[in-house]
Amino acid sequence: MRTLIIHAGATGYASDAVFQFQRYLLEAGDECLLRQLGETWDERAALAGAEDFDLVVLSGGDYEITRLLAAVSGRDITVCVFPSGPVNLFFSGLGNAAEPFALAYACRRGRTVSADLGEIAWANERGGVERRNFSLMAGTGFDAELMRAGASNRHAMGQMAYFMAALANPQPPVVRFSIELDGEHIERDGIACLVANTAMIQGDIEIVPDCRLDDGLLDVIVLETPDAVGLLKPVLFGFLDPSGKNLGRPQIESFKGRHALVRASMPVPMQVDGEPIEGEVAGFEALIHPGAVRLVVDTLSPYFDGTEDEGAEERARLKRFPDA
Ligand SMILES: [Mg+2]
Repeated sequence: MRTLIIHAGATGYASDAVFQFQRYLLEAGDECLLRQLGETWDERAALAGAEDFDLVVLSGGDYEITRLLAAVSGRDITVCVFPSGPVNLFFSGLGNAAEPFALAYACRRGRTVSADLGEIAWANERGGVERRNFSLMAGTGFDAELMRAGASNRHAMGQMAYFMAALANPQPPVVRFSIELDGEHIERDGIACLVANTAMIQGDIEIVPDCRLDDGLLDVIVLETPDAVGLLKPVLFGFLDPSGKNLGRPQIESFKGRHALVRASMPVPMQVDGEPIEGEVAGFEALIHPGAVRLVVDTLSPYFDGTEDEGAEERARLKRFPDA
């Protein structure tokens, strides 16, 4: 097997996990080229010649992974996502084991899922239209406010920055969101309206249950609590019930569809995959690209569709390996 590892580790914590991973691939007799990206890079150069490899490993945090996945979208490339950023929510949502050996083994095994990618467009303050892909979530309102407030210390503090920001702003404005979802009209009052490809947030919590990367659908989520104290309740429920299947999510409503048009009753801040955008928006348009990328999954992933017997065999094998 010939593998290309694209390592965008510049923004992550120093880690040699990806080099361990490369060693496991090499030990099995594979050819493996590692392309280290610098501080600034463009997708075309990073992915040059990618089709010539059996497998392309994208190594980075959520921001780098999303940029690279968007560039891979629709191409005949099998991708393994390797978590080497400060925050790796997309990887968490995929549900693979993070150990370098386990991932190398999953790569060799070659089980994959066709995963969706989201796209969001909005009018900027200069009258132009901006368009961006997202792998996780994008949205308007209090979530974006939090990310803007937390942005300065996000890399240092990880998820804590958002919780600190939430407590510093206990009275976010309540907005009326008018949503056209596949032709259906929905009106809700809330402090945020999000669109999700995968609804995993920090701490392996799913904001809404049954949000899948492979169903060809967006989840449109409205946070209906009027204040940050109310927001703590679904967060607490999230810690007690990470999948959301047992307790549900108080004050969070969600809808599924392929195309969403969202209008807010006042200008609101917006974020795309946790990155705050400049200025405020009146609304946005979101759509899903079904099956845009082919991703390696292991037997621990909820997207693995193999039989239980195969899973047991792989787990037994992993247990025998001291590093796994
Ligand atoms: Mg989905």
